[in-house]
Parts: sequence; C-alpha cells; structure tokens
Amino acid sequence: MKCPYCDAENTRVVESRPGDDGTTIRRRRECVNEACGRRFTTYERLEQRPLMVVKKDMEREEFAREKIYRGLMRACEKRPISVEQIEAVCSEIERSLRMEYEREVPSSAIGERVMDALKQLDGVAYVRFASVYREFRDVETLAKEVLSLLGEKR
Ligand SMILES: [Zn+2]
Repeated sequence: MKCPYCDAENTRVVESRPGDDGTTIRRRRECVNEACGRRFTTYERLEQRPLMVVKKDMEREEFAREKIYRGLMRACEKRPISVEQIEAVCSEIERSLRMEYEREVPSSAIGERVMDALKQLDGVAYVRFASVYREFRDVETLAKEVLSLLGEKR
C-alpha cells in the first residue's frame, strides 16, 4: 500500500489486531521511505455484497437489518425480551439469509424467519407480528393461529 504522505510505493505493517466487533482488522503501517517514516492506520473488513429484497409487488430494495430490528422491537414491546435477545435474533436471521441467498431474497423468506424466531421467543410477540405480517382479516384466522400455537406448546 502506498504511503498517503509521500506517495512511496511501500509501507510495512507494524501491528495487526482485530477490531472491537471481530469483523474488522486494524493495521498500523509505517512508510519504508526513511525520509518520511510516518505511520497510518488501515482497516480490513469483509466485503458485504448487497442483498436485494424482492417484495410482493416485485419491487426491490436493499436488505436492511434495521428493518428487521424495528419489526422485532415493535412486536416485543412491553414483553420480557431484552435488547440483547432481539439483537441476537437479528444477527441470526441476517446470517442465515446471507448463507442461503446470494443476491436476492424474497421478502416472504424474511417474514417467515422472523415469525419462527418470535415463536420460540415469546408467544405474544409472535401473534402480534403474525397478525400484521399475515394480515389476518378476521378474528377467526387469528384465533386459529393462537390455538395452534398453544397446541404446539403443550
Ligand atoms: Zn511516506
């Protein structure tokens, strides 16, 4: 890597260590040009290819983890679920989506994963999310869902 100060072609790495979240590597470099010898820092991180979400109307938008996070927060409002648990669910969903889908993911696949995760986490949060996501039009459909949930718990 070029020195940003004197444009010398070579610099050497003096120190490498992982960044705080473990997804980056921080390197201290030193210019090999003796007249310069200055130090600077570079960061190496995994290249995240963009994952596009294909919505029901076939429109596409870039995958945004924050959207899952917000949906989960809304569903878990006033429930005994910690922010850490929600974060963990988000990470797990994003990880599994990126494993399974290379470039595009149907929005339904995201919704299903969120529902599965909530089902394990908290019944009330699950029904809240599912009622919005599945657009339950009547009480009967909602009741069926709740009953099948109770059945599974037994
Ligand atoms: Zn230099």
